[in-house]
Amino acid sequence: MAEPHIKGNSMNLVLVVALVAQAQTLSPNQQRARDIFEQLININTTGSSGSTTLAANAMAKRLTDAGFPAADVQVLGREGSKNYNLVARFRGTGREKPILLLAHLDVVEARRGDWSLDPFTFVECDGFFYGRGTQDIKDGDAILVATLVRLKQEGYRPNRDLILALTTGEEGGSDYNGVEWLLAHRRDLIDAAYVLNMDAGDPVILSGKRLMRPVQASEKVYVTFKLEVHNPGGHSSLPTRDNAIYRLAAALGRLSAYEFSAQLNEITRTFFQRMAGLQQGQLAADMAAVASPSPDSAAIRRLSDISPLYNAQLRTTCVATELLGGHAENALPQTASATVNCRMLPGTPSEDVQNTLSRVVADTAVKVSVVTAAIPSPPSPLTPAITDPIERVTKRLWNIPVVPVMETGATDGLYLRNAGIPVYGVSGVFIDINDVRAHGRDERVGVQDFYDGAEYIYRLVKAVTGNGGR
Ligand SMILES: [Zn+2]
Repeated sequence: MAEPHIKGNSMNLVLVVALVAQAQTLSPNQQRARDIFEQLININTTGSSGSTTLAANAMAKRLTDAGFPAADVQVLGREGSKNYNLVARFRGTGREKPILLLAHLDVVEARRGDWSLDPFTFVECDGFFYGRGTQDIKDGDAILVATLVRLKQEGYRPNRDLILALTTGEEGGSDYNGVEWLLAHRRDLIDAAYVLNMDAGDPVILSGKRLMRPVQASEKVYVTFKLEVHNPGGHSSLPTRDNAIYRLAAALGRLSAYEFSAQLNEITRTFFQRMAGLQQGQLAADMAAVASPSPDSAAIRRLSDISPLYNAQLRTTCVATELLGGHAENALPQTASATVNCRMLPGTPSEDVQNTLSRVVADTAVKVSVVTAAIPSPPSPLTPAITDPIERVTKRLWNIPVVPVMETGATDGLYLRNAGIPVYGVSGVFIDINDVRAHGRDERVGVQDFYDGAEYIYRLVKAVTGNGGR
């Protein structure tokens, strides 16, 4: 981006005019959402020097000030930690099981020297809000808090409890994971029919155009293996045919040539089907072909080759990520090992993948063991109870297609899915897929995209709690 700066004295007048213009155009609900967003960005919640407790307390105060009973607003977490979570409950009629609204409060580290601006000072400039967490995911935190305050002020009565959880540890810098902790210690507080997660399913802008509304309903399962070779070693002046590094290298060579077979599921099939409608030519034809009941293998081949993302949608992947070996430049290696990280299609037993690795490596001297075990994360069913309100609100506000997606990475959704609670990633804030700055420098979101997201989530929350969303 161009460095935001104020040019000369005449800028004061321009600033005043801009501020007046802004004050005139923001509705009270937009102003409140913006204030909450600003407050959150200005609180450092990094693992190193920040605290999610500060942010959780600030949001708790917003809710109690709006009339939530103190007993329904809790700031809690692992004892002694500076990173607590907020859990609040908006009581409904109880006709249906509660819905959990989820976002994380912690952010990735940001160094002042790496940025054009102070990452922990909220700045609006040229149509964007800047600051660490503007995109991941304090926009979502602010929108959820603003939504609950707005509904409270309106005297809204949902047909079920709405639970808000703003948690710590999603980015890994915290001392523990808030969702995992809440499930283990206070599941009663967050137990729900399903979860709307702000941290996934960002609506997509491509080439300046609002393209689609993804719904993240599934994620691949993370598992890591180690390939290891041992050898007696010896003096490097007397090499032997059997060498730990060569054996490992040969094994990795065989692994690099291997590809897991393509396998479609309900979500990826619908993904390719809907994406076909947004593409043209061969790409559109190939997407439609892989979505058909008997997928065409040539189409699978072309899609796999054209993009790592499509390839990752189609199959389990395993890739070497780290390498270690030997202990001295003048000694034969006694050990050589490689880390192999796999992202499995949901429902794949990790033993199957481990057996496949052993078979592909085809050398009993190469030991394959688990380094990080898989946490199963079953896909969340796309039932009409969830898809209908999303379709309705999306059509009404944006009129773009809703596309179910399987995330190739992993989010906090996995702990909840593993605990039997379906999770749908439905962020309301459009992101330009060619300007993704989450975790990066000068993180930002569009000002209008933020306000539109706040309106979208407000309407969606009403739509899933008894109001039709029209
Ligand atoms: Zn995030």
